[in-house]
Amino acid sequence: MSHPVEAQTRPRKYPFVHMRIADHSVLDSIEGRHVCRLCNRSRKFFCYSCHIPVEELEKLLPRLGLPLQIDIIKHKKEIDGKSTAVHAAVLAPEHVRIHTYPDIPDYRLDKDVVLIFPSAKSLTVPQLFERNVQLKIDDNYGLPKGHHMGTMLRRRVDEIEVLEDQPETTSKRSYTYGNLPVRRAVFIDSTWNQSRGIYADERVRGLRTVVLQNRLSQFWRHQRGSPRWYLATIEAIHQFVLEVHVNAWGLNSAYRGLDNLEITEGFHQLAAPLTREAPSEDVERESPYNGQYDNLLYFFANMYDLIHKYYDHNDLISYRRPI
Ligand SMILES: [Zn+2]
Repeated sequence: MSHPVEAQTRPRKYPFVHMRIADHSVLDSIEGRHVCRLCNRSRKFFCYSCHIPVEELEKLLPRLGLPLQIDIIKHKKEIDGKSTAVHAAVLAPEHVRIHTYPDIPDYRLDKDVVLIFPSAKSLTVPQLFERNVQLKIDDNYGLPKGHHMGTMLRRRVDEIEVLEDQPETTSKRSYTYGNLPVRRAVFIDSTWNQSRGIYADERVRGLRTVVLQNRLSQFWRHQRGSPRWYLATIEAIHQFVLEVHVNAWGLNSAYRGLDNLEITEGFHQLAAPLTREAPSEDVERESPYNGQYDNLLYFFANMYDLIHKYYDHNDLISYRRPI
């Protein structure tokens, strides 16, 4: 089984190659700053307070729909302009809401809502879909000595699917946007310490928690003390809806957008039995995954390209973080 550490020794590949991300060169043509039509403040591409694009980009940006609702809870001390959470709200406005803690919804009565957060009882996405997956947890969760799992946002786990016991009905259930096992997913956009404070809030504490597959972050901004698989919020949302989609509707065998994303081998093993032959241009919303949500990374990829134009990848401290 391949380990994310191996990624370090491979020559670097462009992470977003073959992803279905719209041409973002239009962003490079936007000069100067523009006034937000809601708050009148001066902004570049979008207003990170109002979560809308500047008017010049309103008609030029790609928009996408998601299979479920996403709530993002950000800590009031987080600096808005530095967060990638707002990318999701700008690009998928009908499906993403951002709340500033402590002004958040009360989830205590909500069913079908999950919180993306590691805890002792966390489920994985395949488990939400009742796939017969067992977690294989190494000593110390596979972390290097001296690391404590409690300091990480994500457990390092390998999942093994137990195929022989899988009831036929489970694999044949047909999902639609309307009957997924989860209706809403909540993400916490803050530092690890702040997120633990939010998790302790009684309005959030009762939610079922979900962990994502490990994937190396491509974020160029150094997050102190966090390993490279501590994803930026927009990467985590992309990873989550990708996993949901693959478990519900499979993966298009022609889609090559995941090749350089540095997702743990366990993901690919779980996706293998769900891979389907489908037309290479089929991006219908309930067709096998073929990049339907890749535009979540529209601003992220643009900023990544910009940073890498000016700095050598290996000089950026962010990519030299421990894995
Ligand atoms: Zn505004």
